[in-house]
Amino acid sequence: GLYRTEISFLLHHRFPSEEEQVLQYKSVLSTYPDKRVVMRTLDIGGDKALPYLPIEEDNPFLGWRGIRFTLDHPDIFLMQIRAMMKSSVDHQNLSILLPMVSGTQELDSALELIDRAHQELVKQDSRIAMPAIGVMIEVPSMIYLLPLIAEKVDFVSIGTNDLTQYLLAVDRNNARVADVYESMHPSVVMALEHIHQTCEQLKLPVCICGELAGDPIGALLMVGLGYRSLSMNTSNVAKVKYLLRHTDSHELRELATQALMKPYGNDNYSIMTSFFADKGFSCFIRAGK
Ligand code: PEP
Ligand code: MG
Repeated sequence: GLYRTEISFLLHHRFPSEEEQVLQYKSVLSTYPDKRVVMRTLDIGGDKALPYLPIEEDNPFLGWRGIRFTLDHPDIFLMQIRAMMKSSVDHQNLSILLPMVSGTQELDSALELIDRAHQELVKQDSRIAMPAIGVMIEVPSMIYLLPLIAEKVDFVSIGTNDLTQYLLAVDRNNARVADVYESMHPSVVMALEHIHQTCEQLKLPVCICGELAGDPIGALLMVGLGYRSLSMNTSNVAKVKYLLRHTDSHELRELATQALMKPYGNDNYSIMTSFFADKGFSCFIRAGK
């Protein structure tokens, strides 16, 4: 799944110390001792401003967000990486995910810092392992870089919330343009198809961690596109499991094929709602889109 570390930063009145972070991350990792836990490095900026670090910008979603902020503050980044690696000693179940990466240079710089943190720590404790490292595909530029970065990372995870926002140039939190934020917009569906195909060719593990993966309609469409790893809120797990157990991957592929030929987001939504109605799944659909 996806553990958004900024949430615990948002609950503090100052930057949490390395020791405080270790305690926090250990409690998460030990809750799932046999499962892989994907922890994302700090993704502040945009809509998530820390009360103790106000950032004034005209365009916060296009500004000092995620990896851009942490690479400008390597002290904060290194402290977080060290805390994550130390926390994973008992269960070795940590994967690290990098948010808001828009280019190879940012990725290289982050990987260099992660490597440095690992080398420092392993001198003190030989049990400290290098975790799997992934990058979020949420800035559209990364779609085209996949073949060039595949060797550098262990997996990628698609942030459909931001990917949709940046593909359609629509603020995901602005009610005035909420109808322009279409999670089934043909370009979004085609981008997701393209990412899946590319990752398959590259043998690069891919997961979807945006809200679309936990939405009953979105989840079935994503499985139709070929995705097999979906991250979602616990409240959606049972619903999505039920739907997947009562559908067949071939019929979902057929729906996805139809969706890839439609020029309007509403068409895609209708294809999916008709399928839900035919299957007796309508009770799973929220009012609105
Ligand atoms: C996303 O952008 O889809 C995502 C998972 O990250 P967040 O919603 O935290 O920006
Ligand atoms: Mg995001």
